Amino acid sequence: MTTTDRNQALFERAKRTIPGGVNSPVRAFRAVGGTPRFVKRAQGAYFWDANDKQYIDYIGSWGPMILGHGHPAVLEAVQKAALDGFSFGAPTEREVELAEEIIKLVPSIEMVRLVSSGTEAGMSAIRLARGATGRKKIIKFEGCYHGHADALLVKAGSGLATFGNPTSAGVPPEVVQHTLVLEYNNVEQIEAAFAEHGPEVACVMIEPIAGNMNFVRASVPFVKRIRELCTQHGALFAFDEVMTGFRVGLGSAQGHYASLIPGFEPDMTVMGKVIGGGMPLAAFGAKRAVMEQLAPLGGVYQAGTLSGNPVATACGLATLREIQQAGFFEALSGKTQALVSGLKAAADAAGVPFSVDSQGGMFGFFMLPELPQNYATVMTTDGARFNQLFHGLLERGVYIAPALYEAGFVSAAHTDADIAQTVRAAAEVFNSL
Ligand SMILES: *Cc1c(COP(=O)(O)O)cnc(C)c1O
Repeated sequence: MTTTDRNQALFERAKRTIPGGVNSPVRAFRAVGGTPRFVKRAQGAYFWDANDKQYIDYIGSWGPMILGHGHPAVLEAVQKAALDGFSFGAPTEREVELAEEIIKLVPSIEMVRLVSSGTEAGMSAIRLARGATGRKKIIKFEGCYHGHADALLVKAGSGLATFGNPTSAGVPPEVVQHTLVLEYNNVEQIEAAFAEHGPEVACVMIEPIAGNMNFVRASVPFVKRIRELCTQHGALFAFDEVMTGFRVGLGSAQGHYASLIPGFEPDMTVMGKVIGGGMPLAAFGAKRAVMEQLAPLGGVYQAGTLSGNPVATACGLATLREIQQAGFFEALSGKTQALVSGLKAAADAAGVPFSVDSQGGMFGFFMLPELPQNYATVMTTDGARFNQLFHGLLERGVYIAPALYEAGFVSAAHTDADIAQTVRAAAEVFNSL
């Protein structure tokens, strides 16, 4: 590294005061090696690093930036809101408007509470599910991420009958003893779990399209069976749509599954990312009877100093209004499909095993011949090869997630030329592998 590498200089400086130099671990490039890019500014589909190098951005703040950076209508809404005050700790009309907007677009949600991060929303949803059902046990799936609440930092135990083991130091085993971790897309396991623990299960939480293991869809029979089991046993089925919410379509992932399973609805929904448009904002919602268990109406405590923040809600509302424009998701899906089919063709031409999938503005690819169905298969990806692809693209000004188990995101600001340039860059890298 030369002394003129401002990213490297900033990284060295950051490491002196911030653990690992970053405020969220994946940003440190540990998985792929090399120097994290410190972002100076962003506009549309691009951002520029500390060396003023331009990148086509396919992480979009890990999903929120569905309109691209600095969308004029969003910028205006945020600037106006900021002039009226940053935070009051008292209710505002805009919170009501945002709640109404979310409920209008997602029919399974009758009431919603706004919070500041997906972690907070997921954690609160679990507490509410336990409070509303009077039960202790929760079921999640290997490879799904629901934020870093203690009870969710857990991996599968040694057998189906055993509950999970913590995945983080600082989480006592007792705290995860009621969390059962099962294999994604495994119908037999969820049936066995309900057969054994049915009356004690408060909720089953799932990423319906699991973007935290890159891009793995829950199969229709799997979603259908969980729905039946939850109904039969009085457990709540919670869709964690922090990533997929308003990203895979206007009706979110649950709208997509409802189109495949007539009448399908989850009981609870967790949202984040797109609903804040890049500001700290998330939410959880459910039917009225469940949501009315929350304080101040019910006995489940939940609160937040900055919840429903006036600037964040302005940003989220402006974003949600833009994505409701006629043809928005058709255009976004078209771009995303053009990208993934271009990448697939380039990989095939170079003889690189490659599989891709996408929904709306979210995509995933694997350096595997077939799309994986669960976390264990995702983890069979050749990490070294992925890292070569990552760095090859980065050098060519294309920024994808710096880890093979993360989804990618296309925004409305990406142009056909951006996508063509990305595919050309990928073709060069594939040919060099
Ligand atoms: C990002 C994400 C979260 C956590 O949200 P934060 O805002 O990072 O706390 C939870 N669940 C899913 C599915 C996510 O993608």
